[in-house]
Amino acid sequence: MEEKQGKLKLFEEGLEEYPPMEAFVGNFFMLLWIGAGSLACGLLHPVLGWVFLGLSFFTIYVVLKKLVCTNCYYYGKRCSMGWGKLAALMFKPGRIERFPTSVGIKIAPAVYGSLTAIPLVILVVLMLKRFHPVQLGLFAFLLVLGVYSWLSRPRACARCKMRYICPGSAAK
Ligand code: SF4
Repeated sequence: MEEKQGKLKLFEEGLEEYPPMEAFVGNFFMLLWIGAGSLACGLLHPVLGWVFLGLSFFTIYVVLKKLVCTNCYYYGKRCSMGWGKLAALMFKPGRIERFPTSVGIKIAPAVYGSLTAIPLVILVVLMLKRFHPVQLGLFAFLLVLGVYSWLSRPRACARCKMRYICPGSAAK
């Protein structure tokens, strides 16, 4: 069933708010992901590790909240990541009509893709130069986190009011 929001159709049976534990677990894994990526970059150069940490955190927890989450139905509410509430703490609401075509939606795949790709490439380069088991461990850990995140998307998207509106939804 669908409910209308302007010209856009929301998924009526979607959750009004997600369970707090789901948002906690989602953010726990997100922070692990950023932390592991920063460690990997830090193996190349400590400054690079700190830059990756700061940039990733700022882009995901501030920039994308402004560019994506202010236009979301869950603005001010707890979505699967709890970020609707975070966005409301920092920014004024946007408009849901802007969501599918916003700059944030266009750049989000590249942001999340680089969060995995940059550390993985750095780790491969380092392993080719001078192998150390820590590099391989981080490589495997990042891959597992990436796969976990990919596999958990359909479950979150299937209960999301935005599933018909969001171009990145894994449950159309
Ligand atoms: S559902 Fe997505 S876009 Fe909407 S508030 Fe949550 S993280 Fe942001």
